[in-house]
Amino acid sequence: MEKTTDICIVGAGPAGALLATLLVQRGLDVTLIESSAALGKAFRGEHINEQGEAILAQHNLLAAVKRRGMLPMTRLENWKDGTCYKTIFPDAETGHLGIHVPQRFLLAAILEPIIQAPNFHLLLGTRMRDLLTDDKQVIGVVAETHHERFHVYSKLVVGADGRYSVVRKKAHIPYHTWEHGYDLLWARIPRPKDWEPIIRMALIDGKQLALFTQAEGRIQVGWNIDKGSFPMWRKQPFEPFIAQLKKAFPALTDVVDATITSWQDFVLLDVHSSYADYWGRDGVMLLGDAAHTMTPTGAFGLNSALVDAHYLATIIAHDGTLSNAAIQQFEAARSQMIHHLQQEQIREEQHFVEQFEAVH
Ligand SMILES: Cc1cc2nc3c(=O)[nH]c(=O)nc-3n(C[C@H](O)[C@H](O)[C@H](O)COP(=O)(O)OP(=O)(O)OC[C@H]3O[C@@H](n4cnc5c(N)ncnc54)[C@H](O)[C@@H]3O)c2cc1C
Repeated sequence: MEKTTDICIVGAGPAGALLATLLVQRGLDVTLIESSAALGKAFRGEHINEQGEAILAQHNLLAAVKRRGMLPMTRLENWKDGTCYKTIFPDAETGHLGIHVPQRFLLAAILEPIIQAPNFHLLLGTRMRDLLTDDKQVIGVVAETHHERFHVYSKLVVGADGRYSVVRKKAHIPYHTWEHGYDLLWARIPRPKDWEPIIRMALIDGKQLALFTQAEGRIQVGWNIDKGSFPMWRKQPFEPFIAQLKKAFPALTDVVDATITSWQDFVLLDVHSSYADYWGRDGVMLLGDAAHTMTPTGAFGLNSALVDAHYLATIIAHDGTLSNAAIQQFEAARSQMIHHLQQEQIREEQHFVEQFEAVH
């Protein structure tokens, strides 16, 4: 089987989904390939900041997000020894400290305007395996489902396939990775009835423990541990570790006892950031985490992915091609801000303890 399309986008995360919508609305024929069988299966950050909110509003997508369900954070609290000692409120104009949107809601809302469009082709459960090239440039991808392998020919291949990008690898685009000295343990617990939509932080043995209230009645627990230390932790008894969470947030004792009972109830996330040496050339292009992986700090990654897509959609030519000069223009326009945000993440991580302990 063979398919022909103007633009082949690999990865239906926030970057790939928004780019697809904006290009289909411009009249281009777009094929969006996603390895998961449903939208929103792969893990990604779920807090939208002011910038992401503005992009969604600008493209008339915010109403669809609101309809599906979202939860603005009304304040951030720092807790010590079971009590809150510092509260940060949003400024009046923004009105929130980030908005939680379940990823499947966000992606469905972004794709809603084009989902029935004849020039849009969403291939779920389809993995990109390789790039197709001629003498001069990339001309498409080799894709695979459980049943078949096929070629998708396109004028441009966009790698929006996240931090472990296969497009980046197959295009032989070098990248540099930075470790940040920590990994993250994640768990989701039910939200007690009187729990307000807030972000709560505690400092445990010099490490950040964060609770993110979520839409759909949950709390996401994010607990920093030393990089590579999880195998060591898993050999230790579980109860003393989890007792620290209950001591920090006594109101959660019952739900934690009912839902986080062993190391297996945590998911380990390898935290790193990266930056591709260049973001594309000769018919292939990277954006979002594939070009510049972000850590969770400051919730910049998802939002940067949306900004990338917004900007890239404006510089792809009417016939669906993207010249090397335009690729360089895109990178030049975005790289300064991305470098700034990646530095900001490192700064925030390095100064977390002193900022946490400062009373004002
Ligand atoms: C623990 C953690 C928490 C975070 N929290 C936040 C937050 O709150 N706010 C925030 O802004 N950012 C957050 N981030 C960062 C954020 O998740 C990413 O920056 C963002 O998801 C990048 O979007 P993307 O579309 O580029 O890639 P992704 O969201 O990674 O999407 C890539 C998509 O490509 C698909 N794919 C991969 N390979 C293939 C293939 N070969 N073929 C087909 N499909 C493929 C994947 O299934 C996936 O759907 C967090 C990151 C981490 C690690």
